[in-house]
Amino acid sequence: MTHSPQGPVSAARLAELARGHEDLRVVPGPRSGATIAIAVHSTALGPALGGVRMWHYDAAADGVADALRLARAMTYKAAAAGLDLGGGKGVICAPTPARPGGELRRRMLLDFGDAVESLQGRYVTAEDVGTGAADMVTIAERTAHVVGLPAERGGSGDPSPLTARGVLAAIGACLEHRFGEAAVSGVRICVVGVGSVGSRLARMLAAAGAELTVSDIDPHREALAEELGARWVDPQEAIAADCDVLAPCALGGAIDAATIERLRCQIVCGSANNVLADERLAGQLAQRGILYAPDFIANAGGLINVCAELQDLDDLEALHLVDQIGSTVRRILDAADRKGVTPLVAAQEQALERLRAATVAVA
Ligand code: NAD
Repeated sequence: MTHSPQGPVSAARLAELARGHEDLRVVPGPRSGATIAIAVHSTALGPALGGVRMWHYDAAADGVADALRLARAMTYKAAAAGLDLGGGKGVICAPTPARPGGELRRRMLLDFGDAVESLQGRYVTAEDVGTGAADMVTIAERTAHVVGLPAERGGSGDPSPLTARGVLAAIGACLEHRFGEAAVSGVRICVVGVGSVGSRLARMLAAAGAELTVSDIDPHREALAEELGARWVDPQEAIAADCDVLAPCALGGAIDAATIERLRCQIVCGSANNVLADERLAGQLAQRGILYAPDFIANAGGLINVCAELQDLDDLEALHLVDQIGSTVRRILDAADRKGVTPLVAAQEQALERLRAATVAVA
């Protein structure tokens, strides 16, 4: 499956995507033959951190395009979250849609580790779609520039608890902005997708007295609703739940040109990456009076988790950074009101300001 629904990526499009990046390495893995791409978008604020995606693409150029797009997004995410990190991304192009296993997987990961090492610390890798903590252990055989190792290997372990905590802080900031009160007690909140992050968020919300609705395409998750005394809704209906806060915690693209019309919430704030199928939908949300906390701000707890591993922060320091997500959201929502722009634009401007300041300081 390819990540470029518009069709094959042309050389001209790749050159356009690569513009503004500090580095792009595309190499055939000597052991595996798999195409490996590493895009370093910016190191202005620190080493370019970004996970490695193992995925099957119709053409290697699609994988390279993915690395370039995702690396740029990581720069914005780290900068807006106030982290001293740059943005990068790795891609390993798998030969078939089936998950590569055994010796082939190992060879691909070792090849990737060598490519990471060749960048001498300007790029630091971590897990992403198609890779996990065990894969980071294999990559670590070839390079020290890897985070997201299992806790027993000195790594930061599962990022979901910090991600959920950050989303909770973001929801509080949105509630305060909209209703003048950050507490979730009695607030009607619908969590869509109760996997690693969503289930943790739902538990925290239930404990804090929210009037909770949950939904998931996995029917086994209904047990969580029973356990928490939450209402369960069909996933087809969840997007249209009548609630104060819709918290999308499943896959990206939950809000698109069709579903936006069905929203009956005041606030959208969840963990899902790329929750808007198209950035222009941020304008439509604003027109409909729906407050939107940009996903890359609300879900930055996961990035903070690996940042803590990279920068040797202790648990308290990491928790402090996660709790600051609330202040970041508040600042962005205030700036959006002041400037008459969407929260998404305000968040992007905030990231750019930090990047410009860092670039000027270096020059
Ligand atoms: P997960 O796979 O553990 O959970 C996702 C859940 O969503 C699953 O239970 C799945 O059944 C459900 N789901 C999928 N499609 C659905 C649909 N259409 N309607 C309702 N439910 C649906 O994933 P996760 O780690 O909890 O991550 C959730 C989202 O948050 C993802 O978009 C991820 O990229 C993002 N995110 C996660 C982290 C993290 O720390 N795990 C950090 C940042 C961002």
